[in-house]
Amino acid sequence: MKEKRTSRAIAGCITIERTAKVLMTGLLMFLAMLCVGQAQERTDQMPAAVTDKIEKTDAEWKKLLTPEQYYVLRNKGTEPPFTNDYHGLRDKGIFKCAACGKELFATETKFDSGTGWPSFYAPISPESIRTRTDRSWFVARTEVLCARCGGHLGHVFEDGPPPTGLRYCINSVALKFEKVQ
Ligand SMILES: [Zn+2]
Repeated sequence: MKEKRTSRAIAGCITIERTAKVLMTGLLMFLAMLCVGQAQERTDQMPAAVTDKIEKTDAEWKKLLTPEQYYVLRNKGTEPPFTNDYHGLRDKGIFKCAACGKELFATETKFDSGTGWPSFYAPISPESIRTRTDRSWFVARTEVLCARCGGHLGHVFEDGPPPTGLRYCINSVALKFEKVQ
């Protein structure tokens, strides 16, 4: 009889302990959610300058860019392969957006794809570009755009080298190279 009572008491203790643990976990999760909520609120309140987006009218871009830059960056054109400025470039440096100056690619990730266009296996940071599905020419391709000004840069394909297996095929005219010593 005594033994039974003891075991019941132990079982009771374990139940209480479990309930306490569940309550603590719940409380911690609630606190974590509050923190996340606050963080999101703070992000929403960030001034426009921090998000660093640039929006201009078509006429404004036309004034700012050369006809070749405008054709590629704003009209989603493609420059001819091999005759462009950067496909064979081996210098060490950074490729910036020709329209807004945002840093997009670095020579560390540049490789010779044999296509005649400058090719990279990764952007300088995931936030520097954005991608979207392009269904022109009756094929679904992934378009690469500058995250700041929305300028068309080129396309990304899944036949690149390691470590990403991606090939960012970019128009030279959409880029501005800055040599690093
Ligand atoms: Zn840009």
